[in-house]
Amino acid sequence: MKIDYSKYADGLVPAIVQDFNTHKVLMLGFMNEEAVKKTMEEGKVTFYSRSKQRLWTKGEESGNHLMVKEMLSDCDNDTLLIKAHPLGPTCHTGADTCWSERNHSDEFLYYLEDIINLRKQSTDAKSYVRDLFGRGINKIAQKVGEEAVELVIEAKDNNDDLFLNEAADLIFHYLILLNAKGHKLQDVVDILKSRHSK
Ligand code: AMP
Ligand code: ZN
Ligand code: ZN
Ligand code: ZN
Repeated sequence: MKIDYSKYADGLVPAIVQDFNTHKVLMLGFMNEEAVKKTMEEGKVTFYSRSKQRLWTKGEESGNHLMVKEMLSDCDNDTLLIKAHPLGPTCHTGADTCWSERNHSDEFLYYLEDIINLRKQSTDAKSYVRDLFGRGINKIAQKVGEEAVELVIEAKDNNDDLFLNEAADLIFHYLILLNAKGHKLQDVVDILKSRHSK
């Protein structure tokens, strides 16, 4: 593969990373000769990071590596296209690509998670959430079980309204249980995403 590093004063060639399967553009980075060499040898995308001022293997902390499937240089050899298989969300924000956001229904659940955490610490005696936390993990887990059973019961009926409300109750108590166990919704989403990319 021919690459014309001399086109750029700093010797850094732009490299576009595209999802091999979905064709989504995942991110843009810069590569010097060393980064290209390492990327080809290890099969994982490595950039030269201008902010870190060193070679940066995408995923070195997060584990969300970009596994190289194909590497191409363009018509005049001054831009790279790397088709890759992402092992997790590519953007450090947790989004799949650097040009996408979490969808809004997703965002609301994270917001709700924060509210639950605030209520947990509140001194408001009327707070249902605070009261539930006060009763301990077993009680919270039991509530999740009850809501799940109620959802199952409504699933057998034809009342959409009741079904959806029980579905909401379940997610709400599920978030409380996650918090009580010291986990975040993101931990669960990460597991789902890693399964998805396998
Ligand atoms: P990672 O390489 O995924 O382990 O992330 C390590 C660090 O690199 C993050 O904390 C961010 O500062 C940065 N980073 C990760 N992904 C991106 C990205 N897609 N675009 C720009 N910076 C990123
Ligand atoms: Zn070009
Ligand atoms: Zn990003
Ligand atoms: Zn219910």
